[in-house]
Amino acid sequence: MSYNIAIDGPAGAGKSTIAKKVAKDKGFIYVDTGAMYRAMALFMLEKKIDLNDEKAIAEMCKSADISIKYEDGVQCVYLNGVNVNDKIRTPEVSAAASKTSVVAEVRQKLVELQQELAAHESVVMDGRDICTKVLPNADVKVFLTASVEVRAERRYKELIEKGMECDLEEIKKDIAERDHRDMTRAESPLVQAKDAELVDSSSMTIDEVVEKIKSLCK
Ligand code: C5P
Repeated sequence: MSYNIAIDGPAGAGKSTIAKKVAKDKGFIYVDTGAMYRAMALFMLEKKIDLNDEKAIAEMCKSADISIKYEDGVQCVYLNGVNVNDKIRTPEVSAAASKTSVVAEVRQKLVELQQELAAHESVVMDGRDICTKVLPNADVKVFLTASVEVRAERRYKELIEKGMECDLEEIKKDIAERDHRDMTRAESPLVQAKDAELVDSSSMTIDEVVEKIKSLCK
């Protein structure tokens, strides 16, 4: 039997950092579902699809073969046979992902892949609809959030560390726009599941959040 920990929350709440640590401690696989939506968005950008044209996105997504492999414990996202990990973390792909992820056909395809992974392996899976839609029967459910200021600062530091040029105010604006789109879309909007534990990480350290989530597993 696989054991599933589901973590939802807005952009920059620390989901991936926390989920990776919890997964490592528990010997589970970490599944970053945002990376799959990012790979799909990259595909649409490469194919020059109008991101407001839901019909075109629905049709084109049939030609996107997205899969996950683990190489040295790191999740690698493959788009039509090519590892796209290095291409999906740009602000352009972030914004595109929150546009293409509103399309039902995109979600259906990726949710199936995510459910299949969790059925076979014990996972810590993070995203926007994991507690509500992908793994409604997860053993542990968490809604991880933080204030928009804290989240923007975290993203800013992350991008600067990667050597990317960026502007804090711009990031704050992008995050607020992305939150709005993710929370108000018709298909699987970001909401806290009724049975998910709310964790506000604004003034918590990474280790405190990890311990909190591990304590919910007991
Ligand atoms: O988590 P991350 O910021 O990488 O996700 C990128 C975008 O992918 C989100 O803004 C959201 O629109 C979409 N997404 C989603 N459902 C998920 C994970 C991500 O709609 N489970």
